[in-house]
Amino acid sequence: MRTREHVLIVGGGIAGLALAAHLGRSTQVTLVEERPERAGAGTVLALWRGGRDALDTIGVGERVRATALPVEGGGLRSADGRDLVELRDRDQRLWFTPRPDLVAALEAAVPPSVTRLTRLVTDPRALAAEVGADLVVGADGVRSAVRQHTFEGSAPVVTDWIALRGHRPGPPERAATEWWGPGGLFGVTPGPQGAAWFCAVRADHRDAPLERDEALALARGHFGDWDPRVGEVLTAVGDEADVQRILVAPRLPSYADDGVVLIGDAAHATSPNVGRGANEALEDAVVLADLIHRRGTKGAPLAFSRRRRVRGRTLQLAGAAGLRVATSRRGARLRDTALRLVP
Ligand SMILES: Cc1cc2nc3c(=O)[nH]c(=O)nc-3n(C[C@H](O)[C@H](O)[C@H](O)COP(=O)(O)OP(=O)(O)OC[C@H]3O[C@@H](n4cnc5c(N)ncnc54)[C@H](O)[C@@H]3O)c2cc1C
Repeated sequence: MRTREHVLIVGGGIAGLALAAHLGRSTQVTLVEERPERAGAGTVLALWRGGRDALDTIGVGERVRATALPVEGGGLRSADGRDLVELRDRDQRLWFTPRPDLVAALEAAVPPSVTRLTRLVTDPRALAAEVGADLVVGADGVRSAVRQHTFEGSAPVVTDWIALRGHRPGPPERAATEWWGPGGLFGVTPGPQGAAWFCAVRADHRDAPLERDEALALARGHFGDWDPRVGEVLTAVGDEADVQRILVAPRLPSYADDGVVLIGDAAHATSPNVGRGANEALEDAVVLADLIHRRGTKGAPLAFSRRRRVRGRTLQLAGAAGLRVATSRRGARLRDTALRLVP
């Protein structure tokens, strides 16, 4: 282990905090975040086995588990509310964790030896030279400045979709339910303020404004003739929603370049319908920290890319294909077939 090596992590979201927490105990780390107050914003995240194992490795699994919201079942519904697939999760394979709680747990695990800077990074290599870092880790999300500075033409891919999400006040929701139909998908899950909801809806004009009121009106118009349970949620949320255009990371030749490595959404942001981005970010952090321990900052980046890139690309393709099946007219026929097959 090379304790005198110095790693600069750009981005203090889930990937950056997890890496700082895991690596910072043994390696000199500088963590730069533009807007620390925003890192914990959001509703809930589905945490799967791989993400939970990573949290255990980092040492915060128990803390995160303590605030996780139970899921007693749920399923997949067609737009008009018919059951497509019923989910029973007696083994608690899935948790829904309030994002602020996850971020707070990771924050608390970052050792005091980690140097924290608050600034927008525009030239990562210049900052690395300034702080004396041997390796820059781009953990700066789908718009990654580190990626765009390192790989020419690697701007994020702008999709035809927007995502809305928020809290639905009211009685606690125990089920995780998704509705799939032409041009959109809608979901409700357990949430810290009753329930959390999200939806993706097609908004073809990529430069269309993302004003919250317009996006909510678009969603209400789109889902207006779906299962009444969807409409009830959209009524209950009033004018509260977080709105964003769905961006994905471009296909990259590698996650590593001389003195630079990308993790989390910076490397492989996928459409959020797969519900795995945060899980992958956590796994990336653990894998990279372990490789830095074993191979040092020179050998780790390429080894990391070899180990994680196929998986990242597979998830991106699965996300795009899943969104197509969930929301296309052909998908509707597949859903009907599934309905006939489900006993
Ligand atoms: C609607 C929606 C629902 C989702 N649901 C799930 C789910 O259920 N389960 C799941 O696993 N994932 C889910 N995801 C995906 C998940 O949120 C992301 O994959 C995850 O947040 C990625 O973490 P990250 O740390 O790589 O990037 P980010 O969370 O984007 O963090 C990047 C950080 O870098 C900082 N930063 C950016 N640029 C700079 C710069 N130049 N200088 C300094 N700092 C910078 C940002 O301020 C930010 O804090 C969802 C995403 C969306 C949009």
